[in-house]
Amino acid sequence: MDDQLAFRADDQPNSASPAVWRVLAVDDDVDFQRATAFALGELDVLGGRIELLQAFSCREAALLLARERDIALVLLDVVLETEDAGLRLIKALREVIGNSETRVVLLTGEPGRAPAYEVMRDYDINDYWSKSELSAERLLTVLTAAVRGYAQLKAVASARRGLQMIVESSNALFCSKNTRELSSKILSEIAVLLNLQAEGIVCVRAEGAEEGEEGVAPRARIISASGRFVRNVDASLDSLDSPEVAAVLRRSLQEQQTLCLSDCTVLFFPRFQAGADYACYVATERALNDTEQELLKVFSASISRGLYNVALFSRLEEMAYQDDLLKIPNRNALIRMLDMILKDESKAERVLVLIDIDNFSGANTAFGTGYGDFILGLVAKKLRDAFDGNVLIARVRDDLFAILGPQTQVSAAAIVALFRRHTRSYELGQVHSLSSVTMHLGDFTGSAGVALQDALLTLKQAKRAGHDQHTVYDPRLLGAHAEAYRMLLALRDAVEAGHISVQLQPQIDLQTRRVTGVEALARWRKADGSMVPPLSFIPLAEATGYILPLGDLLMRLALQAAKELADAGYGDIRVAVNVSAPQLLQHDFIERFVAHLRAAGVRPQQVEVEITESVAMRTFDTVCEKLRALREMGVNVAIDDFGTGFSSLSYLRLLPADRLKIDRSFVLEIGQVSDDKMIAEAVIQIAARVGMQVIAEGVETRQQADWILEHGCREAQGYLFAKAMSCSDLLGWLDSWPGARA
Ligand code: C2E
Ligand code: CA
Ligand code: CA
Repeated sequence: MDDQLAFRADDQPNSASPAVWRVLAVDDDVDFQRATAFALGELDVLGGRIELLQAFSCREAALLLARERDIALVLLDVVLETEDAGLRLIKALREVIGNSETRVVLLTGEPGRAPAYEVMRDYDINDYWSKSELSAERLLTVLTAAVRGYAQLKAVASARRGLQMIVESSNALFCSKNTRELSSKILSEIAVLLNLQAEGIVCVRAEGAEEGEEGVAPRARIISASGRFVRNVDASLDSLDSPEVAAVLRRSLQEQQTLCLSDCTVLFFPRFQAGADYACYVATERALNDTEQELLKVFSASISRGLYNVALFSRLEEMAYQDDLLKIPNRNALIRMLDMILKDESKAERVLVLIDIDNFSGANTAFGTGYGDFILGLVAKKLRDAFDGNVLIARVRDDLFAILGPQTQVSAAAIVALFRRHTRSYELGQVHSLSSVTMHLGDFTGSAGVALQDALLTLKQAKRAGHDQHTVYDPRLLGAHAEAYRMLLALRDAVEAGHISVQLQPQIDLQTRRVTGVEALARWRKADGSMVPPLSFIPLAEATGYILPLGDLLMRLALQAAKELADAGYGDIRVAVNVSAPQLLQHDFIERFVAHLRAAGVRPQQVEVEITESVAMRTFDTVCEKLRALREMGVNVAIDDFGTGFSSLSYLRLLPADRLKIDRSFVLEIGQVSDDKMIAEAVIQIAARVGMQVIAEGVETRQQADWILEHGCREAQGYLFAKAMSCSDLLGWLDSWPGARA
């Protein structure tokens, strides 16, 4: 730190002038020491005050000199303890301590006893005086000459050390793989070289920033910073929180030159050296002296070679990190940047937005890849124009783009707005919407790869709902999705392993106690014996399309049971099979169904198809067509969960169905709410009006059974009679059921 004090900008701004020059007087003559102290007390030499150190013996002096390196001058009495003690002290100073900068002036009590010339030369002794000749005036002259010599030698020495450092740091600079890494090294090396606190900024003028545009300040991005500037890394120069610093950096970039100012230095490197205009600001808090400026010049040459290497390397790198078609960063570049951000504290303020052009692949197929490339180019350009160098725009794949940057700039809403304006001006007039997912990186704890994957998954989920979907990544939601995904995989395994079966639940004619039918219900028994309820895996299978193979299996199992029943003499017991919407809506559903019937050897009349009311009403015409075809074959049709869809009577009348199944929720109300509030009665009356039979689900009590019979519903299914059971259990149960056989 002394060295830092040692330089200051004053009337001789370019010479190394400390505030204090230290002078050591070595003499055993107390009177002389006192006189010297008096004479030096008031002196001002080259703008510095004199600080006097005194030693009364050679030994004392040697200890002092070994300890203090910054002594400008030694005033030495030649004859001390012994004849040659003084000279031995100088020899030690030069050869043992290795101090060649401290100046030495020899003094003697007796005039005419000058030391030999060789001694003066070999020990680099500046001057020789007899004490009597040394007037106060002369002392000033002697001191001034000695101090100037010392200052020069110091400068040379520090330059030598600096050069040594530059040579050493060059190695570090040459090994840098990228501009960021190199920049942070440059900042720290300059700090070491100039013995400063590392406080600086490196910024690069963003690629594509046009030069020479009137009134447009070049857009530059801060790629490295140290000390108090650290939090500005990755920000644009315009948003730098120190306006004066931003101003000098901008000036250097604009004037394309290095600036040496009273409290800072900005090194400038042009594009041809650095790949992009490159400016490095170093806070010096003072003007640099000549030596330091010279050193910086040499250091700059070394930096520019490092930058050139890195620029060359970056061009090679571009190939791996750039999208070929759009010439913007690709997925690798995104991952690299994400990786860096996720490791940094600044991630809290960053967001990743992924956008996906709706219907892109369709348009690509319809209009050709030329059209697709055109759209992608427009999107890339629009995004790049909309954001500054702080925001990374990358093409992840196909029509999927990533926008990564500070949340103050990047938002789905802003991007969508951009795109909406944009699509209207297409020459082709083709309008695309887009879907997006926003991920706040502050919430994210995983790696870059996982972040991208999770964001993609969220986007995919959102896009299921259609076009123009904008969603925000939520780890909890994705957790549920991941859970569902695991279950789907397990379900596939269960199907393979034969862990899926159907159980049969009897349906009873309340008047005759006869068993009229059974409903086949899916069962998943896991390897550990536990059961997975159908309400947790059937909707999942429906949502993912897996219901088609699963439904086929369930149909086969149900028809096998029907065959077993028929073979056991219960051929008049209907077997009801639940059919989901995706199954029914398959274009070849009827053919498949017939194939199943044939394969099982079951009469169509023994089978009932259950579809829910909501499915029936949703795609009414198509469903009616299928149901009609089924009924023409002799297959029974039941409308499940009836009453929950509140279908209008006019539609119900047209529905080709044999039976309405009153939903369990209405049966549950029986005996619990007052008669006039019960929906069950209305539901039964509706069934009668549209001329269908009716069956109540979920009958658990005698009271419920009595009530529904009383109100015109003859059939029931529920725990009051039996739960669903395996086919062999059912055969045993039937044998003991009093009204089983007609
Ligand atoms: P769902 O078609 O309405 O089936 C009736 C559900 O009510 C069955 O539940 C049955 O066990 C239950 N249940 C019957 N009697 C009573 C009772 O007295 N009290 C109570 N509390 N519950 C009763 P499960 O087997 O859990 O099936 C639930 C749903 O899963 C079914 O509702 C159906 O929507 C679906 N499902 C089951 N098997 C299949 C299948 O093979 N294919 C299709 N597509 N869906 C199925
Ligand atoms: Ca059912
Ligand atoms: Ca039901």
